[in-house]
Amino acid sequence: MRVLTVLLACIVVWALSAYASGRIAARKNRGVRRWVLMGVVLGPIVFLVHALYPARYSPETRPCPQCGKRLGVRVVACYHCQYRFPSVDVMITRAPADAESRRALLNEVAREYGIPYADATGMLDSLPVAGFRHVMPDQVSEYVRRLEAVGATVTVVPTPPDASRG
Ligand SMILES: [Zn+2]
Repeated sequence: MRVLTVLLACIVVWALSAYASGRIAARKNRGVRRWVLMGVVLGPIVFLVHALYPARYSPETRPCPQCGKRLGVRVVACYHCQYRFPSVDVMITRAPADAESRRALLNEVAREYGIPYADATGMLDSLPVAGFRHVMPDQVSEYVRRLEAVGATVTVVPTPPDASRG
């Protein structure tokens, strides 16, 4: 009888742990099914495991105005329907001369474009007009500020309506 009570209590605790684990996983943007299963296996220990895992990073998105698919906030043209957001072109017209600033600028460019450092180097070698990039209007000032902070000279012009690539 006593054994049965303990067993029942365990089942309740484990079931509640599994349920709560799923809820926490959903809130932290992680796989719900996997974390419910973890709760079933680990019981209350699952909360300790949760505490050790940070919430999963999820990039900010917005819907495409034409087809409604989710796109990253920095995307200037829709992958699905080719809709183009109104954007401006940011061009680096002069890079800093000293090696340290130049390295910092290359880091910014490589990060902004998501390209390897070596490719960013090649890009800056094609100055006086390099780093050509379509940027969403609300992100221009921040991008320009980052480039200017490392000594680049930057020109911003509206993207021509017939520009076909972003
Ligand atoms: Zn679209």
